[in-house]
Amino acid sequence: MEKGNSLFYQLEKILPLVEKPGRYVGGEYNSIVKNWESIETSIALVFPDIYDIGLSNLGLQILYESINQRADCLAERSYSPWQDMEKMLIEHNIPLYSLESKIPLKEFDIIGITLPYETLYTNTLNILSLSQIPVRTNDRGKEFPLIVAGGHATYNPEPMAPFIDAFLIGEGEEILMDVINCFQAWKKSDQLKQDLLEKLSTINGVYIPSFYEPQYNSDGTFQKLHSSHKKAPKKVTKRIMGKLPYAPTRFIVPSIGVVHNRIAVEIMRGCTRGCRFCHAGMINRPIRERTVKEIINTIEKSLESTGFEEVALLSLSSSDYTNVLELVEEISEKFVGKNLTISLPSLRIDSFSVELMEKLKGSRQGGFTLAPEAASERMRNIINKPISEEMLLSTAYEIFKRGWHTLKLYFMIGHPSETMEDVAEIAALCKKVLGVGIKAIGKRAKVHAGVSTFVPKPHTPFQWVACDQEEIIYQKQRFLREELKGPGLKFNWTDPKETMKEAWLSRGDRKVADVIEIAWKNGAKFDAWQDFKNYDIWMKAFSEANLDPTFYIHRERNLDEVFPWDHIHPGVRKSYIKTEYLNSLSLQLRGDCRDECYACGITQAFNHLRKEDPGIIWKCPNLSPSRSKNELSLSN
Ligand code: SF4
Repeated sequence: MEKGNSLFYQLEKILPLVEKPGRYVGGEYNSIVKNWESIETSIALVFPDIYDIGLSNLGLQILYESINQRADCLAERSYSPWQDMEKMLIEHNIPLYSLESKIPLKEFDIIGITLPYETLYTNTLNILSLSQIPVRTNDRGKEFPLIVAGGHATYNPEPMAPFIDAFLIGEGEEILMDVINCFQAWKKSDQLKQDLLEKLSTINGVYIPSFYEPQYNSDGTFQKLHSSHKKAPKKVTKRIMGKLPYAPTRFIVPSIGVVHNRIAVEIMRGCTRGCRFCHAGMINRPIRERTVKEIINTIEKSLESTGFEEVALLSLSSSDYTNVLELVEEISEKFVGKNLTISLPSLRIDSFSVELMEKLKGSRQGGFTLAPEAASERMRNIINKPISEEMLLSTAYEIFKRGWHTLKLYFMIGHPSETMEDVAEIAALCKKVLGVGIKAIGKRAKVHAGVSTFVPKPHTPFQWVACDQEEIIYQKQRFLREELKGPGLKFNWTDPKETMKEAWLSRGDRKVADVIEIAWKNGAKFDAWQDFKNYDIWMKAFSEANLDPTFYIHRERNLDEVFPWDHIHPGVRKSYIKTEYLNSLSLQLRGDCRDECYACGITQAFNHLRKEDPGIIWKCPNLSPSRSKNELSLSN
């Protein structure tokens, strides 16, 4: 009986009984099914949420295509089953399987899990359990797959340390290839799993948590990470590629509706605007851009292989892409008559030109989104996002004038030292924007204020500050709900309990791993979904683990405090991040470092890159030949 066939029959019985069976069958256009007999290494790529969300993840699509281009490997996909399917799998004792060959995940050599955000942790344990794989590394011998994880959330890997064999810190595209090569060499030997982990620990960007023991001070604060293994590097520096990764062109065309049915091209990686709350801005430096020619070629090939009608030009701040106007123009000309919609998420108000707006108006879809993040001058200086009210109002006017009826404005409450006056400015600014909208297009104008709550993230200048207390957040939200009522105004907010969850998962130490496991065992999962109210389960888990969640989220940190994530080096030096924090306390602004380098430390971490690929466009002056004097003077 061919590998995986038996599962087919079982699935045929249960799939008609679950919602959206298309999530569990694979066989989509551009999915790749290889002959298992012909390959050496099998990798299961896992997005720990449902298919509808995970399928559009560009990171997994890049890994899927690049691994399957290797003749000696195959990569297949798996996602979290929805509750009805989970119940069926358990009832029929069917282990979680891959979509392509319906092979149980426990039969793969390597399972690669992407963790873009922390609220996917319980789903990750659930996936291991549904795959009949022990959730803790200590309970897994070489008979089980090697479990690796990567993604933004892993820049503080400690809360998930007991569950993951190896973390891939930084740009996983290259590290995963090194891990596969290392695995293949090990598999040919008769060595122990420990020997494999030792070899992996020598790869740039790989962190083996089982090689370290965390030590704590008597007050519970983190003291240090004791390396219990001679091969364990003191610090694990994020991996960065000399060249932006392969741009996928054979996007899987889903047979059911998913969140994004589109071509996605990463036009630029990194952002150096230096917003002090922004985790992605700190961990994705330096800036690297794809050429316009490469982007156009990628879109052309992707259109041919998918028939999609939308292309998303992705980056952390697409309007900062040097040739953004030329790019949008070329796309409009090259694909005229193809009914192609161009979406350009994450536009910055201060680099977004009316010209670009003109070019995009042909692709107008629904509302237009801008993210001022804060409304008062004071707060904008603290978070280092210096956008004047005047600039925002004139940009808004131009947007309404060009046919958009709805403007979405993203703000955050809870930034350090925020007052109710700062919060009141949010409501006032939204009303002013509505005012210019009405001036431009009359009563059709609408302003949607999306107000999330700030969580101080690791490796950012605000890692020392405390998260707002729940009651304070409720008070601010109550105020905004009152103020942002009336025609043309809409207010969305994040449930403070969800914010607390994100905060303790992103700021936790290795002790929080017990809380995650207890919460999961008590039923917590789909924590990224607001309608899964797991808060009480989590609070119960904290008390069962004899830990106090407020210790992690509501405690201001001393400047010399050691963080549980300090052994992960994001390329940006801690001293630079601390300077930025001190600048925020004195409301001191810092401009985009493309104009002037502030010696964040990225160069030291990646000096070797300069020589690697002259073709790549670097936008970090210190990665251009003439290193700035700043860097030389502060390079220790
Ligand atoms: S090295 Fe300088 S220019 Fe490069 S990212 Fe850091 S601060 Fe910016």
